[in-house]
Amino acid sequence: MSDVKKLIADTKQWIAQERVWDDCLYASGITERQNSQTADKPNSGKAIRQNSQTAARPPSGSSAVPLFRSTDIPTTRNSALQALYERYKDCTRCALGPTRIKIVFGVGNPNSEVLFIGEGPGYEEDRRGEPFVGKSGQLLDKMMAAIGLSRETNAYIANIVKCHPMVNPQTPEARGNDRPPSPEEVATCSPILLQQIAIMRPRVIMTLGSPSTKMVLHTKDAITGLRGKIVPFDVDYFYPSIAEVEELKIDAETREGLRQTQVIPTYHPAALLRNPNLKPESWTDLKLLRDTLAKSQG
Ligand code: URA
Repeated sequence: MSDVKKLIADTKQWIAQERVWDDCLYASGITERQNSQTADKPNSGKAIRQNSQTAARPPSGSSAVPLFRSTDIPTTRNSALQALYERYKDCTRCALGPTRIKIVFGVGNPNSEVLFIGEGPGYEEDRRGEPFVGKSGQLLDKMMAAIGLSRETNAYIANIVKCHPMVNPQTPEARGNDRPPSPEEVATCSPILLQQIAIMRPRVIMTLGSPSTKMVLHTKDAITGLRGKIVPFDVDYFYPSIAEVEELKIDAETREGLRQTQVIPTYHPAALLRNPNLKPESWTDLKLLRDTLAKSQG
C-alpha cells in the first residue's frame, strides 16, 4: 500500500475507533458482553491466528473459572494453563490471598499471538474471577476490537498479580478500594504470570500501564518514556538458565520461542478514562501492535 493510501486508511480507522471509544466512555446501558460482541469493528483487522487454534471452555457444570471463552477442542496450552490454575487457585503466598474473593487468573485464547498484561484485579474482577471486566475492561475490549482482537478469539489477558490489592482489606465490600500492587506482592505473584508466558509464548506482549511495564521490562522508568516502543522480552532475565525457582525452569525450545517475543508498552485503559487526551498516543501504540502482529504473520 502506498504511504498516502495507508495514511488515508489509518485516518479513517482513527475516526471510526474514536466513535467506538467515545461510545465506551459516555454510553450507558450497554452490557459489557454486548460491547465486545457487537462493537463496530473499525478495522476489519488482520485477525491473528483467528479461530484456527481456538481455546476450550471448561466443561459445563465444572467449578472452574471461565479461563477460556472460545468453544473448541482442548489444546496443550489450555491443559497446561488449567494445571497451572489448579496449582495456584487457593494461593495465599502473599497478603492479598486471604482477602480476595476470587483469584483472577486470566482469560482468552492461550494460542493467541498477543498477551495483554494489566496490573491487578479490581472490585468487579475480584467478584467475577475474570480480568478487565469493569469500566477499564470495557474500554480495553473496544481498544482490542479496533485492531481486530478480542478475548473471545485471538487475544489473552492477564495481570501481574492475581488477587485484588485493596487499600483497606477490612472493607472488601467498598468500591474505590483499589491500589496498585506492592513490589513484594508483584515479586511473590509474578512467577505465575511468567509461567503463563512460558506456556503461551506470545509473539507480542502489550503491557498496560506502569506497574506491568515496570515488571515486564524490569525497569523503574516511567510509562510515558517507554510506551510506543518495541522492546525484546528479556527471557534470560526472567528464566535464568540456573533457575533457583523450579517453576521457572524452561526447556531450550521455549527459551528460543520466547526470544522472538516483543514487548509493546502502552497506557492503562484506566488512565485513558481519566485523561482522554492520552488516546491519540494509545491509538499509535495499538497500530504498532497491529502492524507488528501483521508482520509476524508474514
Ligand atoms: N485493571 C487491571 O490492571 N487489571 C484488571 O483486571 C482490571 C483492571
